[in-house]
Amino acid sequence: MSLALFRWSVVLLLCLFTSAAFANEARGRKNKAKTPKLVSLVGGQQLHRDTATAFQRMSQDAAKHGIELTVTSGYRSLHEQQWLYEEYQRGRGNKAARPGYSKHQLGIAVDLIVGKRTSKRYRWLAANACRFGFRRTVPSEPWHWEYHPRRTFPPVAGFNCLGRRTRPPEPPTPVAIKDPS
Ligand SMILES: [Zn+2]
Repeated sequence: MSLALFRWSVVLLLCLFTSAAFANEARGRKNKAKTPKLVSLVGGQQLHRDTATAFQRMSQDAAKHGIELTVTSGYRSLHEQQWLYEEYQRGRGNKAARPGYSKHQLGIAVDLIVGKRTSKRYRWLAANACRFGFRRTVPSEPWHWEYHPRRTFPPVAGFNCLGRRTRPPEPPTPVAIKDPS
């Protein structure tokens, strides 16, 4: 083997090893991101630990007002989401996101028992959930709330967490007009 060929072979081998190492590292990161750090709630549902902490704080506050928050669906594995999606496709069960696109798979979404939109529980959530970082994201699903602490803010005076007015707008302040005479 000539020296030039030998050098090229070494370079080629180094390239192959480096790319394999990078690929492995990337795969490792991806898998890590796919498995959220989960904790179990009292009812047995699981949530991402940060979401669980915020949810527990919200539940405790709701309990002070005589409202019990019950999670019917928290974290879902890919397998569970796949099953729910197939059921939805067959016309059974609630709307379900395509596997890989549900926030339930990240452990940051909770489905809650809310009743009608006029129920005490739903009205409490509409007024307070955003104070704990939870927001509604699916217009047709009043039970589905997601934890997005960085882009969820407490309600502005006169509005609820959903941006709806809670009291009529203030009447304009009358302007004193000077008597021209
Ligand atoms: Zn949901």
